[in-house]
Amino acid sequence: MTSPWGYADFDDHEDLHFITDPATGLRAIIAVHSTHLGPAAGGTRFWHYAEDEQAVVDALRLSRGMSYKNAMAGLALGGGKAVILADEARTKTPEMLAAFGKAVGNLGGRYVTAEDVGMSVQDMIEIARQTKFVAGLPTAGGEVGGDPGPHTSLGVFLGVKAAVRRALGKDSLSGLHIAIQGAGSVATGLALHAAAEGARVSIADVDQAKAQKLVDAAGGKVVSPDEIMALEADVLSPCALGAILNEQSIAALKVPVVSGGANNQLATPEDGVRLHESGILYSPDYVINAGGIINICTEYLNDGDASLVRTRIEGIPDRLEQIWAESAATGRDPAAVADTMAQRLIGRA
Ligand code: NAD
Repeated sequence: MTSPWGYADFDDHEDLHFITDPATGLRAIIAVHSTHLGPAAGGTRFWHYAEDEQAVVDALRLSRGMSYKNAMAGLALGGGKAVILADEARTKTPEMLAAFGKAVGNLGGRYVTAEDVGMSVQDMIEIARQTKFVAGLPTAGGEVGGDPGPHTSLGVFLGVKAAVRRALGKDSLSGLHIAIQGAGSVATGLALHAAAEGARVSIADVDQAKAQKLVDAAGGKVVSPDEIMALEADVLSPCALGAILNEQSIAALKVPVVSGGANNQLATPEDGVRLHESGILYSPDYVINAGGIINICTEYLNDGDASLVRTRIEGIPDRLEQIWAESAATGRDPAAVADTMAQRLIGRA
């Protein structure tokens, strides 16, 4: 039995809360990694874990990731994350969400929640009946809020353009070939922005119908999920799964740029080094995909309107540039450079 302090992913997390409510079947973990810059913010993941330990690891790893993401996005937020341990049937009831909302409320604002995998806007509405420490709620006409996906897509699009400028010396995606893994929320916005600028897109999704629907809207062609990672293109944009960049997949890449919105793209930190040594320009994922959290933060802190959200998202390319410049100057890979910058911002380097 490992104590929380014994986990490889334990990183001086400020606190870790284990929540149990037998009446509703709720079992959850709330991890507060850092409140150095503000309340620890990060979504709630609803997931069935084969082993409870995997939930602890997820909460530790994801909450640290949120500290880095929020800091690098220039937000007045710390990093936290919650996981709800779903049963095999993934039973989720309003009563369970209410119990979870109360647990969030009991932390008095140290942790602010929002959507993550398995949690919908409707679920946030249920949680918001119990606590005010929640974001990602529907907008009431013109206010900031709602689905973070389109904001993430915009940031990824601007980040891809910055990567293309740096690696290929081109100011536009016009005429370039972008290989996109995924045809979900983030991929859809990216493909539409890129196509509108004249890029040719290739799309792969395990759900073939989704890939076809996106190609119908953005042009380009559907590619099989097995082919996308080794497609010859100007940019590979991972917008589906984590841990897809490993020793084998990196050796097979035929692109000068990897720049996409998926979380945790590198299987291990060494894979960031591998990309760098292969001469492939990488956009650290939590920097390029911060558009959604920028929108959520602006909603939660109520400190700006839609045009401020856009201005903040437009800051993503500059941050990437800073990282790549330091990487070029020091020889360290961009992912490692970003981690050090983030650690400095949260007072840990
Ligand atoms: P989504 O569920 O809308 O889309 C993901 C898509 O990936 C689905 O269509 C799924 O079928 C597809 N997919 C799964 N396995 C695949 C495979 N092996 N090959 C090809 N396609 C596969 O999710 P999303 O909101 O678009 O998020 C995509 C990624 O971006 C995730 O890693 C997510 O964590 C990250 N992200 C999303 C946001 C956001 O605002 N939505 C913000 C930051 C990061």
